[in-house]
Amino acid sequence: MKLHFFGAAGEVTGSLYLLEMKDKKIIVDCGMFQGSKFADVKNLEPFKFDPTEIDAVVVTHAHADHNARIPKLVHEGYRGPVYATDVSAKLIPIVWYDAAKIMDYDHKKTGDERLYTAIDVDRAVEHINPVPYGKTIELTKDITITFHDAGHILGSAWVKITNEDFSYVFSGDLGNVDVPLVKEKEPYPGSDVLIMESTYGDRTHGPGTDRAEKLKEVLIDTVERGGVLMIPAFSLERTQEILYELNYLIDECKRVPKVPIFLDSPMAIRATNVYSESTHVMDKDAREKVGAGDALFDFPGLKMTMATDESKAINNVPNPKIIIAGSGMMAGGRIMHHLKRYLKDPKSTLLIVSYQAQGTLGSKIQSGAKSVSIYGEKIDIKCEITQIGAYSAHADSDMLIDWVKGAKKKPKHIYLTHGDPESAEALAERLRNELGCDVRIPNRGDVAELQ
Ligand SMILES: [Zn+2]
Repeated sequence: MKLHFFGAAGEVTGSLYLLEMKDKKIIVDCGMFQGSKFADVKNLEPFKFDPTEIDAVVVTHAHADHNARIPKLVHEGYRGPVYATDVSAKLIPIVWYDAAKIMDYDHKKTGDERLYTAIDVDRAVEHINPVPYGKTIELTKDITITFHDAGHILGSAWVKITNEDFSYVFSGDLGNVDVPLVKEKEPYPGSDVLIMESTYGDRTHGPGTDRAEKLKEVLIDTVERGGVLMIPAFSLERTQEILYELNYLIDECKRVPKVPIFLDSPMAIRATNVYSESTHVMDKDAREKVGAGDALFDFPGLKMTMATDESKAINNVPNPKIIIAGSGMMAGGRIMHHLKRYLKDPKSTLLIVSYQAQGTLGSKIQSGAKSVSIYGEKIDIKCEITQIGAYSAHADSDMLIDWVKGAKKKPKHIYLTHGDPESAEALAERLRNELGCDVRIPNRGDVAELQ
């Protein structure tokens, strides 16, 4: 058996593993490299294997860095099934069409080469096979694949692949604890080989803040000033967490004023609709609310503005109001129009709830810039800037250790991926010292020969 590491090896994006078992070839995740121009070059590189020879593709979850090169794989000849959990199967097409739209826009604007088009996405979507958690797929009589909840985003999974008496577990991305909406990750059962993420391998999250309380304060302050509360948010998970908390505040807290709330992002609206249909996989709190008749993402004052005209019409709605829009890092999307209009308004508030990568407009604002340029216009920042520590969607170092420790049988080998080298090294040391594990950190292109 051979395991090839083609992505997220020594870095956090571009997850792609090829597992050769007997005469079968299985791809686990086929994600985009993200975060720099260099990533675009890596995405465009030809696959280091023949897509027509692959028997199955297994996807851990709906984040683009785990699946958004699949339309390219199909474009280059892959014709087999793409297995994903029920919820991921609904979210993944939203991610792919959004990626195709952005690439098309860039292509028209700058001539950048596209990885694929919406037509390729149409074809790729046909290959998606939804599979419920816990149901075993029999690829052959000997080779089985099973999804288990990873507690990272809705629909996320860690995957167990077995071949007779040998087993692999691919962690995908593992979730944090006590995050709204998603369940806790299912325990690791043990396996011969564990391929595990290490995003926060060198860090612990520390005590959480009471986010709902902070959100309530910011909301009340902004409304009392008669301003606009702008919340830039990622379309998947962060937006739904914010809506879920707003829903709770409006239902439970009599002090929260009723003001118009706009979800101004087509991708986030589509994702939220999938969340609304997928309450059966949510945590106990969310399911109890649904059981009591709460629609979770549909509450008084909320308006979803899908069309451009509806988005523009938000300007005409008198203040105070709340606007949730993408992109989360303020690097494009409809939030830009609202920032242009309201950053200069001392009554308004910009609430940062997402991680802001260096070099983005969001990080400039976060680090105290007095003015920024938006669509060529200099905008003075006069509004209040505040932030709520985001719920990390990832397990920290202690949680990753605990997850491995929980297994009855220690893995023979652990391969740490999906982390910067420092994170992976730090986690490897802990796994060796505290649990006595054999741990390796593969580089992109490495192959492990396993028995
Ligand atoms: Zn993820």
